[in-house]
Amino acid sequence: MNATPLPPPTALDEVLAVVRGAGGPLATETVPLALALGRVLRETIVAPEDQPPFARSAVDGFAVRVDDTATEFRIVDFLRAGDWRPRTLAPGEVVRIATGAALPADGLQVIMVEDTAVEASCVRVLRRDTERHVRERGEDARRGQPLVNAPCRLSAGALALLASLGAATPRVARQPRVVHVATGNELVPPEQTPATGQIRDSNTTLVRAFLAARGLTAQHLRAPEDFAAATTLLRDPAHGAAETDLLLISGGASVGEHDFTRRLLTDLGYEILVAKAATRPGKPLLVARRGTALAFGLPGNPLAHFVCLHLFVQAALDAFAGLPPTSPFRDGLLAADLDNDGNGRETLWPAHLVAHDSALTLEPLRWISSGDLSSLARANAFIRVPAGTGRLARGTRVAFVPTSPSP
Ligand code: AMP
Ligand code: MG
Repeated sequence: MNATPLPPPTALDEVLAVVRGAGGPLATETVPLALALGRVLRETIVAPEDQPPFARSAVDGFAVRVDDTATEFRIVDFLRAGDWRPRTLAPGEVVRIATGAALPADGLQVIMVEDTAVEASCVRVLRRDTERHVRERGEDARRGQPLVNAPCRLSAGALALLASLGAATPRVARQPRVVHVATGNELVPPEQTPATGQIRDSNTTLVRAFLAARGLTAQHLRAPEDFAAATTLLRDPAHGAAETDLLLISGGASVGEHDFTRRLLTDLGYEILVAKAATRPGKPLLVARRGTALAFGLPGNPLAHFVCLHLFVQAALDAFAGLPPTSPFRDGLLAADLDNDGNGRETLWPAHLVAHDSALTLEPLRWISSGDLSSLARANAFIRVPAGTGRLARGTRVAFVPTSPSP
């Protein structure tokens, strides 16, 4: 049914390179901090003033002049965090001070409350060390110093830093507008009981969760296995067809009589960049481009979805965000033998990743077919097994891609 003969399968690294090269950075926008988690920063954030901007007490205690060596003092004020009452201390005077409060003058030291005995408005020093217990102005950062470099994905910690610097509406990469289409006459929604021959659609849930973990949402559609109807659906301006940045089509990517994704993408004006990947699972993968938009035809098998989303679609999201290309692969050790069969394609094997004795170890999960969902629930990684590899023994060093935060 496809218009032109299929080019040879594209190797995994090449697919990654094609995706990175095709997905241009999306525009920049500003967002409030409350919506900025996981967004990619587009401006370097500098300290607008010294951090901290004033000398603060690091402890609860009594501020005295460093050169005042008396052991009994008169308490002349009590400063809490937020107070600002500068004063010059005379010999024999102390100011009671709380953690975080601004010191009333230069040249002071804070004696910890634990090292004192208080009687009415007097304090006796029981122990005096050389530590000043002061967080000096500018000791964390100097005014103008770059503190968060762009581009980077904003973590909870980075957001806290931005908040402290007053960067309340950072400039970040715009989020891609995503449309996901599940194709297949055999599919029924999860809440429905399938008749014989039918199955429940699990890929929509998988795609939704993958996107949600990245702060993204999609418009989820169901397309009938009918070329004309699917084309009409995807051209419908009500679905924002023209504004789509990322089109994900589940199923129909291979060469069966009803597998029309390739023709559909061509008809919608997409240029096919990859028509097949030399990977298992994921062979009938399609990657296509229309202007700055990208489309993926994802093989319907759930395991293929799992792998292609975390490998190739992730690369597209990073490219949209304007992040520099980095390898998704990390090194780990096999926690058990992996029974590969010498397949001629690179295999991406679902695995359970655990930190063990300071190494990352991977337990290969049972895998009979790419349609198996039972192993997916525990899969938080997949192992890259080179083409032509047979059994790999426990302890072998392997490359893997983590799919959830590391253990
Ligand atoms: P296809 O890529 O359309 O040839 O589909 C390959 C396999 O994946 C078939 O067994 C389909 O039934 C299955 N499949 C396709 N779409 C989904 C889906 N949304 N959820 C679960 N399985 C699917
Ligand atoms: Mg299908």
